[in-house]
Amino acid sequence: AKEMGGNQYQFYTAAMNEQLGERLRIESALRTGLERREFELHYQPQVDCTTGRIMGMEALIRWRHPEMGMVAPYRFIPLAEETGQILAIGAWVLRTACRQLRDWQQAGRKELRIAVNVSARQLAEPDFVQSVAEVLADTGLAPCCLELELTESAVMDDVAHATEVMHQLKKLGVQLAIDDFGTGYSSLAHLKRFEIDVLKIDQTFVRDLTVDPDDAAIVTTIIALAGNLGLDVISEGVETQDQLDFLRRHGCRHMQGYLFGRPMPAADFLALLEQSEAA
Ligand code: C2E
Ligand code: CA
Ligand code: CA
Ligand code: CA
Repeated sequence: AKEMGGNQYQFYTAAMNEQLGERLRIESALRTGLERREFELHYQPQVDCTTGRIMGMEALIRWRHPEMGMVAPYRFIPLAEETGQILAIGAWVLRTACRQLRDWQQAGRKELRIAVNVSARQLAEPDFVQSVAEVLADTGLAPCCLELELTESAVMDDVAHATEVMHQLKKLGVQLAIDDFGTGYSSLAHLKRFEIDVLKIDQTFVRDLTVDPDDAAIVTTIIALAGNLGLDVISEGVETQDQLDFLRRHGCRHMQGYLFGRPMPAADFLALLEQSEAA
């Protein structure tokens, strides 16, 4: 038993060392990632299921590292949050996304809008609103075509500050969505005070919607809540026709998920647009 304990100990240290190693490797690689242009944005369609039309897209970051290959967001976004590197990355994401949509709009897709993820760290920065205003001015994108996705937990980190920032962002004219809705701790009183436009139902509730009555209850409650508060609602992680049917039946019009398209490079997204226009 003693020996086994020893082995176990070694096993844990090895695993922990490896974790630490990966952490350090990613952290230092992040420092040069931007200047080496290793990041790109992929775009995932958001669909109005009553018309079948693509109403917009969510921009999702991808990191192609020369040695590590594709590094998934869950491996570097939380780390970049901790180190503050998310500030530079987030600024790049926002500018790149707005520029891309402006280009698509200039090529004739005037009604499209783009959703961009904002991290807790960005939201806390004193000059965040100013930086959004600058990107809009520089790119010439109409503010109403930009939707900022704030996670429920980021907003709840510092409710007073977030409420003020949301107020300033609304004055700019951008759209505000609460991402991962239902996973955090916002109360109805908060929701009433936040100047938001959209609730985004977290995919963990959508996944088992058609088999788990609790998830079904949560989702229908969020849809009803959004309706009663005059908010838009969008479901993420929609993968099956059954999920789509359920959501539509309960009054959710806007959807995002593999059923409609995976996040894809800009060129592929444009091809999808062209194909859906031809249909
Ligand atoms: P999120 O904002 O909740 O984004 C949705 C995630 O669900 C994306 O994962 C997307 O690829 C995935 N997804 C979309 N449809 C489906 C589906 O039908 N089924 C399943 N199983 N998954 C689906 P991704 O791209 O790996 O991003 C993960 C998270 O990383 C995002 O979650 C977001 O929190 C963060 N992230 C990604 N890009 C950015 C960014 O530019 N800035 C910041 N701050 N965070 C980002
Ligand atoms: Ca999101
Ligand atoms: Ca989400
Ligand atoms: Ca999520």
